[in-house]
Amino acid sequence: MDQIVIKGLQIFANHGVYKEEQEKGQTFVVNATLHFDTSKAGRTDELSDSVDYGKICELIKDFMTQYHMNLLETIANRLARKILMAYPEIEAVTLEIEKPEAPIPMKFENVSVKIHRSWHTAFIAFGSNMGDRLSYINDAIANLKADMRCEVKKVSKFVESRPYGEVEQDNFYNGVLELRTLLEPKELLEFLQAEERHAGRVRKEHWGPRTLDLDILYFDDMVIENDDLTIPHVDMQHRDFVLVPLSEIAPYKRHPLIGLTSKEMLRKLKDSYVTRK
Ligand code: AMP
Repeated sequence: MDQIVIKGLQIFANHGVYKEEQEKGQTFVVNATLHFDTSKAGRTDELSDSVDYGKICELIKDFMTQYHMNLLETIANRLARKILMAYPEIEAVTLEIEKPEAPIPMKFENVSVKIHRSWHTAFIAFGSNMGDRLSYINDAIANLKADMRCEVKKVSKFVESRPYGEVEQDNFYNGVLELRTLLEPKELLEFLQAEERHAGRVRKEHWGPRTLDLDILYFDDMVIENDDLTIPHVDMQHRDFVLVPLSEIAPYKRHPLIGLTSKEMLRKLKDSYVTRK
C-alpha cells in the first residue's frame, strides 16, 4: 500500500504523569505514516483525490493541545483512531510519538511509543426468533451504522429458517453483514453483546429463543481462540442459515482454516444432507 509520511512534527503540549510535565509542558515529536491508495490522485492531480497532509498536521496539533493524557500509549491509540475516523479512505496509520525531553535523570537520546492501527473487515451473522424480529435486527444494524468506528458495507437478504437444536420455538430471521471496523475483536464482541442486551435478550437455554443473536464469523483472516471468542465461528460451516446469506454477499471469501469459499462450504453442506437422507 502507498504511504504519505509526516516526519518530525513538533508540538508543544502538557502530557505526562508528573505534575511538572503537566504544568510546564514539553515538546513532543510526531511521526505519522498514512497508508492509502494514492493512484487516483496520481492520475487526476487533484488534492481532493488525496489526503491533505497539512490538514492532518492541524488535526494532530489540535488533538495534542486540546486534551490532556498521562501516557504516550493513550495519545497514540486515540490519535490513530481519530485520524482513521476523520479520513476513512486511509486504510491504516503508523504513529510514533516521541518525547525527547522526558523526565529521565540520565543522558538519553529519545523515548517514543510506536503503534500501527488499521480498519478491519468482519462478517457478522445475525438472527432473531422472538417478538418483533425484523425490528431487533434492523435496530442493531442502524446502531452499527451510527457508530463512527464502524461502516456497514453489505447486508444480505434476510432468510427465514427453522430453529436449530431441540427447543420448541418460532422460526428465525437470519442474515449476514460485512462490516469495516476500527474495533478490535474483543471490543467488537462487547459491542455486539451490548446490542443483544439492548434488545432485551436473556440467556436462558443454550439453543432457546432469542430476541437477537449476533455472532462474529470472520475477523480479517485472523484465527482466535480464547475463553470468550472463537474466530472463525466454530459452527458456521454447519449452518445453512449462515452459509446462504454469506454466499450472497461474499461468495468467494475463503475460510482461513478450512480453506473453502462460502459457496464451496454451502455446496458441501448440501451434499452432506443428500448423503444422510
Ligand atoms: P450465543 O449463545 O451463540 O450468543 O453464544 C454467546 C457466547 O459465545 C458468548 O459468551 C461469547 O463470548 C461466545 N463466543 C465465542 N465465539 C464467538 C463469536 N465468534 N461470536 C460471538 N460470540 C462468541
